[in-house]
Amino acid sequence: MNIGVLALQGAVAEHIRSIELAGAKGVPVKRVEQLAEIDGLIIPGGESTTIGKLMRKYEFMEPIRNFAAEGKPVFGTCAGLIVLADRLEGDEEPHLRLMNMKVARNAFGRQRESFETDLDVKGIDTPLRAVFIRAPLITEVGDNVDVLSVYKGEIVTARQGNLLASSYHPELTDDYRLHELFIRMAKERGTSHVGH
Ligand code: GLN
Repeated sequence: MNIGVLALQGAVAEHIRSIELAGAKGVPVKRVEQLAEIDGLIIPGGESTTIGKLMRKYEFMEPIRNFAAEGKPVFGTCAGLIVLADRLEGDEEPHLRLMNMKVARNAFGRQRESFETDLDVKGIDTPLRAVFIRAPLITEVGDNVDVLSVYKGEIVTARQGNLLASSYHPELTDDYRLHELFIRMAKERGTSHVGH
């Protein structure tokens, strides 16, 4: 399995490390053509406005939408979750509009800018260590979205078919089980499309 990490801005090297710990090959994706060589794509944390701007500049928007439409998995973490969302709170322009959810940026306020916690995540048997940094929250989800974890009543992990999103940074700890889950999603896609 080759798992790409969109390498325009943000925590790229950390994701590559977690992907490799989880047993797949990590590929920094800087050019659109590289999408053809990967089985899944991670959009990392960083700054969503900047990532969105660079995605438009380097013409990644349509190719990533097509990648997802082919059933290949896409995982957005923190700023990457914001980039995946169909709707943003306030009058901010959404980016990829792939996931049927509404997202509030910087939703924890100044007091809780960054913190770590252990989260119960559906599909992972013991709590996952999660690092939140100026994190967004999912404030609404459509019926086709599965909520995988909540923190203090707020949605922080969600899945919609081949799309996965986390409010936090799963790549900043040694706990790479969310990456393993994502790699399983990529493998399932691989087998379910055999013969097509
Ligand atoms: N606050 C950032 C944004 O709105 C996201 C922070 C992060 O990715 N750690 O884009």
